[in-house]
Order: sequence, then C-alpha cells, then structure tokens
Amino acid sequence: VEYLYNVAQKYHVIDKIQLNTNVEEIRYIEEDQEWEVTLCHLPNTQGYRRHINDMNDRDKKLTPVLELVRAKLVISCVGILCRPNLWPEDVSGRETFRGEIVHSSQWDHQIDPREKDIVVIGSGCSAAQIIPSLLKQDVKSVTQIMRTPPWINPRVDEPFGEKLYARFAPLVFRYFPVLGFCMRHLFRLYTELEWIFVFQEKSSFVRQIAENEALKHMRLKANPRYHQALTPTYSYGCKRRVFDSVWLESTHDSRFSLQTHLVERLEARSLVIRSSGEDVVCECRELPADIIILANGFQSTEFLHSLQVYGRQGLLLQNHWDQRGGPQAYMGAAVDGFPNFFLVVGPNTFVGHTSAILSIESTVQYIIRIITPILQGKVTTVEPTTEAIINWTERIQKAMEKTVFGSCNSWYQDKRGHNTIIYP
Ligand SMILES: Cc1cc2nc3c(=O)[nH]c(=O)nc-3n(C[C@H](O)[C@H](O)[C@H](O)COP(=O)(O)OP(=O)(O)OC[C@H]3O[C@@H](n4cnc5c(N)ncnc54)[C@H](O)[C@@H]3O)c2cc1C
Repeated sequence: VEYLYNVAQKYHVIDKIQLNTNVEEIRYIEEDQEWEVTLCHLPNTQGYRRHINDMNDRDKKLTPVLELVRAKLVISCVGILCRPNLWPEDVSGRETFRGEIVHSSQWDHQIDPREKDIVVIGSGCSAAQIIPSLLKQDVKSVTQIMRTPPWINPRVDEPFGEKLYARFAPLVFRYFPVLGFCMRHLFRLYTELEWIFVFQEKSSFVRQIAENEALKHMRLKANPRYHQALTPTYSYGCKRRVFDSVWLESTHDSRFSLQTHLVERLEARSLVIRSSGEDVVCECRELPADIIILANGFQSTEFLHSLQVYGRQGLLLQNHWDQRGGPQAYMGAAVDGFPNFFLVVGPNTFVGHTSAILSIESTVQYIIRIITPILQGKVTTVEPTTEAIINWTERIQKAMEKTVFGSCNSWYQDKRGHNTIIYP
C-alpha cells in the first residue's frame, strides 16, 4: 500500500483519482467528437464489489449519485479477472442453503472457518493458495471439488529463503540495481524461452520433458491416493499452470479430501455430488458444508463486462463484437467505430507464460504513442480501419493455431471456443 501510495504521489495522480465510483456507460457524441461518461458515485465504500447491479434493496435506497462527464479520450483499464464466474445454473438449492457462499475475489472477513466443514470449488491458482491457508486454521474439514487437474510446477523459491529475501532484497536491489535488473531479465528470458520451446504446438519433445518433470513433482508431494486424479490428460501449458508445493502437501492432511465428481445440488447444510459418467447410474454422495468457497474463476472473455460502450451511431460494442464473431481489437487496443477509445488488456493481449504486467506496460506505451498527436492538438480523432482489425485478427488466430492452447478447454476461450484472451 505504501509503495502504491508513494508512486501515486510521485507522479501527482492522487487528486485525479475518484474512488468508490463506477463507470456505468460511455457514449460517443458524434457532433462533438467527445465521449460522454456516466459515473455512479457509490453510497458505500465497497467499490466495484457493490456494482449497482449487485446491490441489495437496502443499498439501492441509499441512491447512488450519477454524474455525466465529457472526455476527448477514454482508456479502459477495467481488467479481465474482475467479475467472478456466477454460481453454476445447473446446480440447484442455492436459496435453501443455510451456510455461507463466498467467491475467492470477494472474501468476506466476517467468515470464521474454525470448526467448520468447508468446500472449495475449483483447482486453479486461487484454490491452490486458499486450501493450505484454511488448513493452517482449526477447520473441521476441507473438501476440494476438482473438474480438471492443473499441471503443477514447484514454486520458484526466493534465493536464501522467503524471509531473508523479503527483508534484504529491497535493500540490496536499491544499492545494486544492476542485480535487480539482471534477475528480472533472467526470469524474462527464461519465460520467453519456455514460450518458444514449450508453448508452441510443434515443441512436443521439450513439452514432454516438462510434463514428466511436473508429474514427478506432483507424485513426490501429493498423497498417493490422489495421484491418478491429479494427472492431467491434456497438453502442458494449455491451461494456466499452477506453481505450488504447499497445496500438494496439504493433500496428506487428514481433514482434506479431493473429489472429482460433479456438483449436483445444495441442501441446507450440505452439497451433493454425483459421478460424471453419462451411462453410469447416478451415484450421489452428500458432503457436509458450512462454507462454500468458489475458486471457480472469472468471466474473463466478457471484455468490458462492467460497463456499456456505445460508439458511432449508438452501436453497442458487445453487439459489434457479436456481429464480428467475438471480441477483437487492433493490437488488442482499438476498435473501428469507437474513435479515441482504447483498451488495456483488450482481446488477445493477455499472457499465460509470463507476467501480465509486461503486456499491460507494452499496451500503455503503444496507446501513449497513438494519442500523443491528439494531446498535442494535431489530430482530433484516431480510429483503426475495419480492414486493419480483420487482418490483425486473422494474423492472431493463425498464430494461435501454432500454439498449445487449442488442445483443451480453458478460461481463455469464449462460448464459441475462440481464444480471445492470449496473445500468441
Ligand atoms: C487470483 C489471481 C492471481 C493472479 N496472478 C497473477 C500473476 O501472478 N501474474 C500476473 O501477471 N497476473 C496475475 N493475475 C492477473 C491480474 O489480473 C493482472 O496481473 C493485473 O492485475 C491486471 O491489471 P489490470 O489493471 O488490467 O486489472 P485489475 O487489477 O483487475 O484492475 C481493474 C480495476 O478496474 C476496476 N473496475 C472494473 N470495472 C469498473 C467500472 N465499470 N468502473 C470503475 N472501475 C472499474 C476494478 O475495480 C479494478 O480496480 C492474477 C489474477 C488473479 C485474479
């Protein structure tokens, strides 16, 4: 927090930030060549968590204040891992369940896990971090529901251990910045080499080695009764990998159990699961549940999920993308028909093999280059041509075919099966 505050202060942005404010809608006003932005100042301090659509009746009575502002340029930084995935529609009983249900990204600190039966739904990075933390407390049981096992690599340990590193690394890097620079670029180089030698479809030889190493790690750390369930049946790298050792070690805890059955329904204080085979007679089991933690991810492919964007002729961006067959933007950052509007982390700009910050910073630099003539008053509007977007999208999808991402279902794909998340 101190770091963020210091950076914001250094660059004089504190007085330019409006907190507890949702952007509800942005609309291009053709005759003025400006965007009209509808802001909603929230009546409480819970920010995006209490998006107006999610508010309960009591909150709604505290009428949020709407404000319209005009802007020459709009840059969206709304993120893609922001709006949680919803409760699965085919699982009934949510209304009758008497326990707590919480999503990993909307943690309720009032929840006391002690002496409780807890069910965690999901097996990605969030679940891998939540489960060991829960087991450190006096919980009664933790049951994890896993649909697909992730590929798991050991977490890269800090040189000289976590505690010493946290204490001394900032000091060392401050006085010897070249060390920090070298370390960062070593990581970067390593991940880029992985991209070439593991994530390309043709790199099956090295990928096989990576798969063997990951399986060895899993078998070394995890309880043998779960080895089969934790063995992935899709290519390494296709889904986001999990870097972990402690989750796997937790599988030895007598209070932990891993289930691969489907969730059937909720009862007042339990969750019913059933075997997944279609031709098997439904084999149901009831698991006690006081708290259900959803570590089931985000509505990642719903770009700009939290606001409505209307471009030229009142065209809604989501409709525009539906007509085109899915979200697409030139260099992931600009859309035809939406002048002076830019996206950071737009379609096909996310990365799964290295830090997302790298791609965010590149996009920001790119946007700044494009808008500089507007800021200098040399140009009024800038907008990609339809042809440029179509060509760009074709290039991206062609390059995607050469990667490993087509070999499984993942949160990178939208409902049509298009990978609109990853930059290939
Ligand atoms: C559990 C988890 C682990 C992750 N781990 C990593 C990792 O190890 N490495 C990595 O590179 N990436 C990781 N990511 C990805 C992470 O999303 C990005 O690295 C980074 O946070 C993205 O930054 P952002 O600014 O694009 O979005 P965010 O950090 O998500 O910020 C978006 C902001 O926009 C606000 N917002 C949204 N809609 C509106 C609206 N309508 N009006 C006003 N404000 C709005 C939100 O409240 C939020 O503050 C992880 C994500 C998750 C969820």
